[in-house]
Amino acid sequence: MSIDAIKTVAVLGAGTMGNGIAHVFAKSGYKVILRDVDQKHLDRALDTVGKNLDREIKKAKITEADKPLILQRIFCTTDINDLAAADIAIEAVPEQRELKERVLKEADAVLRPGVILASNTSSISITALAAKTTRAENFIGMHFMNPVPMMVLVEVIRGLQTSEETFSTTMELCKKLGKNPVAVNDAPGFVSNRVLMPLINEAAYAVMEGVATPESVDAVMKMGMNHPMGPLELADFIGLDVCVDILNVLQNGLGDPKYRACPLLKKYVAAGWLGRKSGRGFYKY
Ligand code: NAD
Repeated sequence: MSIDAIKTVAVLGAGTMGNGIAHVFAKSGYKVILRDVDQKHLDRALDTVGKNLDREIKKAKITEADKPLILQRIFCTTDINDLAAADIAIEAVPEQRELKERVLKEADAVLRPGVILASNTSSISITALAAKTTRAENFIGMHFMNPVPMMVLVEVIRGLQTSEETFSTTMELCKKLGKNPVAVNDAPGFVSNRVLMPLINEAAYAVMEGVATPESVDAVMKMGMNHPMGPLELADFIGLDVCVDILNVLQNGLGDPKYRACPLLKKYVAAGWLGRKSGRGFYKY
């Protein structure tokens, strides 16, 4: 499908990432079909988009008058059949392979032929997900970063079967959203998590081995390496459970024990210390 034919975007999953993706598309003038299985999540997503737009008004990035226009472009639904009107669909349901495969198959059955189906997966193979659909050549990874309205990177992941047209349309679409797409090939963790997760893991080992406190590890990386957030602060923001899951994907997919999750990370997850979202991780919130 050509870039000019794309007017309506379906987003599957209205969680942290789904509401952010809906936000940036609606702000860029696209109609959005936001689909979740749970009406409560849809209500919360619209509420979150509204609050995030308020922040943009305060920063003078948009005007008061823009807000209702942007919100009006987001149509919420729990009915998968509403995807028939979409010119592209982006999946952002939880990072569980079987769930993603099921949702992608459902979407594939409803979307028109030739419509691009993208996944926002952080680590699952794009090639393998594509093979579960009947449109492998129109399948691609669009890995947005959290928080989506603020982060400019989209890691665009080409599966083995992704066509040149699907790839170029997706890259152009990211640019239309004001994002900077970076193309990578399909491999466990892509580039972002393959490089980030070993950093976070090593920081956790440094704490476990008593080399330094979380505050000191983060201070060294912020002041010494000019990182805006320390690795442990960032791990708490991402979710320690998510970090362990991604490290498992790297270890299983690449077969190298260097990616095995630090026992301290696993212990915190077992304790329910998942980071910001649970009120405690390396830090207390
Ligand atoms: P989340 O748990 O916040 O949201 C997932 C949403 O999907 C929930 O609202 C849930 O109700 C909904 N859902 C479940 N089954 C569904 C179905 N069958 N159809 C439609 N919706 C369904 O998760 P998230 O953090 O937004 O992550 C989504 C994806 O984005 C994951 O693949 C994750 O790895 C990836 N990702 C997350 C981050 C992050 O920092 N959170 C960053 C980049 C990528």
